[in-house]
Amino acid sequence: MSDSLDHYLEQRLSTVRDAGLWRRTRILDGPQRPEQVIDGHRVIAFCSNDYLGLAGDPAVAAAARKALDQYGVGAGAAHLINGHTRAHEELEQALAHFTGRARALVFSTGYMANLALVQALVGRHDTVFEDRLNHASLIDAVRLSGARSQRYRHAEPAHLRERLEKAPATGQRLIVTDGVFSMDGDIAPLPELAALAREYNAWLMVDDAHGLSVLGDTGGGSCQYFGLGSDDVPILMGTLGKGFGTAGAFVAGSERLIETLIQTARPYIYTTAMPAALAAATLASVHIAASAHDRREHLQNLLRRLGDGLDRLGLPHPPPLTPIQPVTLGTATRASAVAERLFEAGFLVPAIRPPTVPEGEARLRITLSAAHTQTQVDALLQALERALDQT
Ligand code: PMP
Repeated sequence: MSDSLDHYLEQRLSTVRDAGLWRRTRILDGPQRPEQVIDGHRVIAFCSNDYLGLAGDPAVAAAARKALDQYGVGAGAAHLINGHTRAHEELEQALAHFTGRARALVFSTGYMANLALVQALVGRHDTVFEDRLNHASLIDAVRLSGARSQRYRHAEPAHLRERLEKAPATGQRLIVTDGVFSMDGDIAPLPELAALAREYNAWLMVDDAHGLSVLGDTGGGSCQYFGLGSDDVPILMGTLGKGFGTAGAFVAGSERLIETLIQTARPYIYTTAMPAALAAATLASVHIAASAHDRREHLQNLLRRLGDGLDRLGLPHPPPLTPIQPVTLGTATRASAVAERLFEAGFLVPAIRPPTVPEGEARLRITLSAAHTQTQVDALLQALERALDQT
């Protein structure tokens, strides 16, 4: 029996290996910050989602330490049993305030928040309209909900309109999009999507994992960037493991939206609450993020510098507005070879390959953080030029 399982698994693994798509974990020694030691190599990393440099912030760590003494480590139970501490409650209030929504609800991961949210809103008689490049957790969420899925071309409201025109008259309609696309780094055309939602009586849900804390004057994300409020985007989801530098996620919206999740969402009801110390640390980071004008400005300056440098090298990249700046190189082999050269030169920049991105669009995914310096960005550009020459 176990022989046949091993044989079957080996065949599947060979397929991945033969396609040149083998993935492996690297071991990081020490905190998440640009200068790090990974697999024993000293590198400057350009791949984390710690966009504001809060993952290693002393004030955030101090809040976690204090709450550890107060609450211990594990939450010990689900929120609806007795795992929901005052730290969780305060974090939810702070996130509601931060996003300008009536209420917020915390989840252990963004993946779970998306599963919870989509399933709570739609079922098999409904239709979900999804941007083709939405994050995997959104795609899985729609599948699990059983709703009819209609994918529209990436960031193309005109194609969404065609889809909406042809949608069945019965059932609910939900439009789902990333706020900032995780592999392409562009911002969704939210004003157009909000207008279409209004016109076709659909609900708009935005996963702003990569926009919140980074975009907008007070870090309110892609909604704030476009000046949109809760009337335009009534269903907002954000993660805490990226710009906020900790871990977990949340949904923000109306009183009724949050209460519906509490009463019906299985990934909320049947899982252990995040540790209270994590909630307390995140509360500290939300406060810092709200007034982190300097960090956001520094990040925007670095992005401009990177954008200018990539232009000089003739490499296409999205407008340097968000910290995700992919450089498309074509085949998986080429992207991997350039990433390997960069690693040897002391820079960690991942190659993103199919199936994460479409065939022929393998890329280097450079992400910047407010913790980077101008010197580090310049050094990356020089190393990239050399790596491209040698590949
Ligand atoms: N949505 C988007 C757009 C993401 O990029 C991610 C993380 N890669 C998630 C959701 C999932 O969040 P988490 O890592 O907290 O599960």
